Amino acid sequence: MQIDILTLFPEMFPSVLSTSILKRAHEKGLISTNLVNIRDYATNKHAQVDDYPYGGGAGMLLKVDIVGAAIMDIKQPGSHVIYMSPQGETLRQKKLEKLISKQHLVILCGHYEGIDERILSYVDEEISIGDYVLTGGEIPAMVMIDAIVRLLPGVLGQEASSVEESFTSSLLEYPQYTRPAAFEDQEVPAVLTSGNHEEIRLWRKKQSLLKTLLKRPDLFLKRSFSAEEKGLLLELLFSGEKNC
Ligand code: SAM
Repeated sequence: MQIDILTLFPEMFPSVLSTSILKRAHEKGLISTNLVNIRDYATNKHAQVDDYPYGGGAGMLLKVDIVGAAIMDIKQPGSHVIYMSPQGETLRQKKLEKLISKQHLVILCGHYEGIDERILSYVDEEISIGDYVLTGGEIPAMVMIDAIVRLLPGVLGQEASSVEESFTSSLLEYPQYTRPAAFEDQEVPAVLTSGNHEEIRLWRKKQSLLKTLLKRPDLFLKRSFSAEEKGLLLELLFSGEKNC
């Protein structure tokens, strides 16, 4: 996947793009990222990229002619242009699963008061990382890139590691433990050291259901359940089991 990032602050990105999973994805040739400085498309001698909003009001807006020229220069047939914006659709795992099929993402980061509204005719969609306002689109872009790249086939060591993660099946991930087996007054659940893979699988599924019900009832109520999951829920109901 090719990812072009249009920003006024390219210097914010290199350490994130060259660390951990993103570093590995670059090394394996699974992604290629390119930082594009919007200021390079400024046309006047002061390299001005923003201006006052018509009608007055606080702050400055990025100019549509400059940002539009940057997008048109980078965009190719088949590119998918995303504007990181607090007014966009909130980013969720399901959206990420759609985005991983794109060959070329062009990610636009706003700044200051945002971008002249007419830029929307140049973008395919607006994506928000949550209902709060950040200073710029750079941190949201990093969040989205990280979340997309870890889903790309071959990026994570074991393919299963993203399959079982929270939200993948609209459930939170089951509790996980590592050594020591006993810590203060807490012991690792005995089933996890039993060596019985089927019992471990069922225990984990049950814990995922319970965790989601207790921590994210909104997700739980939206979901439909398989016959096995219904059986596990009944067991939970009648045993009064509670491990989260
Ligand atoms: N005036 C804009 C508004 O009220 O909708 C907010 C502008 S914000 C200070 C500047 C830039 O930060 C936006 O253009 C956008 O790129 C980015 N941004 C801020 N919050 C964001 C969020 N929750 N998700 C994605 N991008 C965000």
